[in-house]
Amino acid sequence: MSRVAVVTGGTRGIGRAICRRLKDDGFTVVANYGGNDDAAKAFSDETGIAVYKWDVGDHEACLDGCAKVESEVGPIEVVVNNAGITRDGVLHKMSFDDWNEVMRINLGGCFNMAKATFPGMRERKWGRIVNIGSINGQAGQYGQVNYAAAKSGIHGFTKALAQEGARSGITVNAIAPGYIDTDMVAAVPEPVLEKIVAKIPVGRLGQAEEIARGVAFLCSEDAGFVTGSTMSINGGQHMY
Ligand code: NDP
Repeated sequence: MSRVAVVTGGTRGIGRAICRRLKDDGFTVVANYGGNDDAAKAFSDETGIAVYKWDVGDHEACLDGCAKVESEVGPIEVVVNNAGITRDGVLHKMSFDDWNEVMRINLGGCFNMAKATFPGMRERKWGRIVNIGSINGQAGQYGQVNYAAAKSGIHGFTKALAQEGARSGITVNAIAPGYIDTDMVAAVPEPVLEKIVAKIPVGRLGQAEEIARGVAFLCSEDAGFVTGSTMSINGGQHMY
């Protein structure tokens, strides 16, 4: 039987491309999502991939959701923590709710999913966890103290958990995407986006499939000696 891979936020954008790629690579893929039922249904109808709705920022919902997947599909051996949101604004205008919600979903979601799946991976002595960080967690970004802090937290979380999983056959890695052409980036005002693209050495936004290829490698048997690492996929932007 093929390994079961859960991709959070798997029904749109980067997560959608990751699901498709892992399916092509022979995994039994499950896509989690947060609330957009229409997008999830369209995705599932098109790909045949099972979709499960729960809020990754809700600890109990994560435990229950993963238990349901395990009973209906099988033991979860691969987790891609991809679900994420933005609530941008400069600090002096950012509400506590905007801070909290981004931390709860983007960073808390990684903890919740690991709590639900890491013990099983330890018992079975094999696992792959890939956390989707961001170039803005590495470099910071004006108007994103919440998002940059959460993504930076993901990079630290990755290195700490990698050390805990290393002797149990579990690798934990992060990918730090640059600007990728998805709904999230479509929300960035055009003049701001033009300035951002001007700073990307390859001169364009990335495609979701370009992130999915990196995830696929980190989830593969071939990547067993790669752990605690961050793969930067950003058209060279990390150099500036
Ligand atoms: P999208 O906004 O296109 O898709 C986000 C996905 O996450 C959706 O499937 C959404 O579900 C899901 N989601 C949101 N909140 C929750 C929640 N509480 N619980 C479960 N699922 C949830 O985002 P992208 O594809 O652009 O981004 C994917 C990841 O990549 C994010 O972590 C983002 O921070 C990161 N990233 C993106 C970059 C970019 O340029 N696009 C750059 C760097 C990092 P639903 O459809 O139900 O809302």
